[in-house]
Amino acid sequence: MSDDYCTRCGACCAAFRVDFHPSELASVTPGGVSDALTVPLTARLVRMRGTDEAPPRCIALDGEIGVKARCSIYASRPSPCRDFAPYAALGIGEDACDRARSRHGLRPL
Ligand code: SF4
Ligand code: SF4
Repeated sequence: MSDDYCTRCGACCAAFRVDFHPSELASVTPGGVSDALTVPLTARLVRMRGTDEAPPRCIALDGEIGVKARCSIYASRPSPCRDFAPYAALGIGEDACDRARSRHGLRPL
Protein backbone atom coordinates (compact mmCIF):
# COMPACT_ATOMS: atom_id res chain seq x y z
CA MET A 1 0.00 0.00 0.00
CA SER A 2 1.19 3.47 -0.84
CA ASP A 3 -1.06 6.54 -0.46
CA ASP A 4 -3.49 8.69 -2.52
CA TYR A 5 -5.31 6.12 -4.70
CA CYS A 6 -4.36 3.48 -2.17
CA THR A 7 -6.22 5.21 0.64
CA ARG A 8 -9.44 4.37 -1.20
CA CYS A 9 -8.33 0.77 -1.69
CA GLY A 10 -6.21 -1.28 0.72
CA ALA A 11 -6.81 -4.46 -1.27
CA CYS A 12 -3.18 -5.59 -1.37
CA CYS A 13 -3.09 -5.56 2.43
CA ALA A 14 -5.84 -8.16 2.37
CA ALA A 15 -4.71 -10.33 -0.49
CA PHE A 16 -1.11 -11.53 -0.14
CA ARG A 17 1.26 -12.88 2.48
CA VAL A 18 3.68 -10.19 3.61
CA ASP A 19 7.04 -11.72 4.54
CA PHE A 20 10.32 -9.98 5.24
CA HIS A 21 13.66 -10.37 6.97
CA PRO A 22 13.69 -10.00 10.77
CA SER A 23 16.32 -7.27 10.45
CA GLU A 24 13.37 -4.95 9.72
CA LEU A 25 11.84 -5.60 13.14
CA ALA A 26 11.82 -2.81 15.71
CA SER A 27 13.71 -5.04 18.12
CA VAL A 28 16.59 -5.03 15.67
CA THR A 29 16.27 -1.73 13.85
CA PRO A 30 14.86 1.34 15.64
CA GLY A 31 11.81 2.60 13.78
CA GLY A 32 11.15 -0.82 12.31
CA VAL A 33 8.05 -2.99 12.35
CA SER A 34 6.70 -3.78 15.78
CA ASP A 35 7.58 -7.39 16.58
CA ALA A 36 4.13 -7.89 18.08
CA LEU A 37 2.53 -7.40 14.66
CA THR A 38 4.45 -10.29 13.16
CA VAL A 39 4.80 -14.04 13.46
CA PRO A 40 8.18 -15.77 13.07
CA LEU A 41 8.48 -18.20 10.17
CA THR A 42 12.14 -19.11 9.96
CA ALA A 43 15.43 -17.63 11.11
CA ARG A 44 15.32 -15.44 8.00
CA LEU A 45 11.63 -14.64 7.65
CA VAL A 46 8.81 -13.10 9.64
CA ARG A 47 5.26 -12.47 8.42
CA MET A 48 2.78 -9.73 9.08
CA ARG A 49 0.04 -11.15 11.27
CA GLY A 50 -3.20 -11.84 9.48
CA THR A 51 -1.75 -12.02 5.99
CA ASP A 52 -1.91 -15.82 5.87
CA GLU A 53 -5.39 -16.14 7.31
CA ALA A 54 -8.46 -16.98 5.28
CA PRO A 55 -9.46 -14.45 4.21
CA PRO A 56 -6.16 -12.58 4.57
CA ARG A 57 -6.01 -9.17 6.18
CA CYS A 58 -2.94 -7.54 7.63
CA ILE A 59 -3.29 -6.73 11.30
CA ALA A 60 -2.00 -3.22 10.60
CA LEU A 61 -4.72 -2.34 8.10
CA ASP A 62 -7.39 0.06 9.34
CA GLY A 63 -10.61 0.94 7.58
CA GLU A 64 -12.81 -0.57 4.90
CA ILE A 65 -11.32 -1.98 1.74
CA GLY A 66 -12.40 -0.09 -1.37
CA VAL A 67 -13.77 2.79 0.67
CA LYS A 68 -11.18 4.23 3.01
CA ALA A 69 -8.16 2.24 4.13
CA ARG A 70 -5.03 3.12 5.98
CA CYS A 71 -1.84 1.38 7.06
CA SER A 72 -1.58 2.08 10.77
CA ILE A 73 2.21 1.64 10.60
CA TYR A 74 2.75 3.46 7.31
CA ALA A 75 6.02 5.13 8.31
CA SER A 76 7.51 1.85 9.48
CA ARG A 77 5.84 -0.58 7.07
CA PRO A 78 8.10 -3.40 5.85
CA SER A 79 9.96 -3.44 2.54
CA PRO A 80 7.48 -5.61 0.57
CA CYS A 81 4.85 -2.97 1.24
CA ARG A 82 7.17 -0.13 0.26
CA ASP A 83 8.09 -1.92 -2.96
CA PHE A 84 4.58 -2.97 -3.97
CA ALA A 85 3.07 -1.21 -7.01
CA PRO A 86 5.13 1.95 -6.52
CA TYR A 87 3.06 4.02 -8.97
CA ALA A 88 -0.34 3.04 -7.62
CA ALA A 89 -0.47 6.25 -5.61
CA LEU A 90 -0.45 8.06 -8.95
CA GLY A 91 -3.22 5.88 -10.32
CA ILE A 92 -0.91 3.58 -12.27
CA GLY A 93 -1.37 -0.03 -11.25
CA GLU A 94 0.37 -3.24 -12.22
CA ASP A 95 -0.50 -6.92 -12.36
CA ALA A 96 -0.26 -7.69 -8.65
CA CYS A 97 -2.17 -4.54 -7.75
CA ASP A 98 -4.87 -5.43 -10.27
CA ARG A 99 -5.09 -8.98 -8.88
CA ALA A 100 -5.47 -7.72 -5.34
CA ARG A 101 -8.16 -5.26 -6.37
CA SER A 102 -9.96 -7.91 -8.38
CA ARG A 103 -10.17 -10.15 -5.32
CA HIS A 104 -12.14 -7.41 -3.64
CA GLY A 105 -14.35 -6.60 -6.59
CA LEU A 106 -12.45 -3.45 -7.52
CA ARG A 107 -11.55 -2.43 -11.05
CA PRO A 108 -7.89 -2.15 -12.12
CA LEU A 109 -6.42 1.32 -11.73
S1 SF4 B 1 -4.02 -2.89 -4.40
FE1 SF4 B 1 -2.97 -1.27 -5.57
S2 SF4 B 1 -4.30 0.55 -5.38
FE2 SF4 B 1 -4.91 -0.93 -3.80
S3 SF4 B 1 -3.78 -0.28 -1.96
FE3 SF4 B 1 -2.58 -1.86 -3.02
S4 SF4 B 1 -1.17 -0.76 -4.36
FE4 SF4 B 1 -2.79 0.67 -3.76
S1 SF4 C 1 2.02 -3.31 6.93
FE1 SF4 C 1 0.65 -1.73 6.18
S2 SF4 C 1 1.07 -1.56 3.98
FE2 SF4 C 1 1.91 -3.53 4.71
S3 SF4 C 1 0.27 -5.07 4.38
FE3 SF4 C 1 0.07 -4.30 6.46
S4 SF4 C 1 -1.41 -2.62 6.35
FE4 SF4 C 1 -0.65 -3.02 4.26
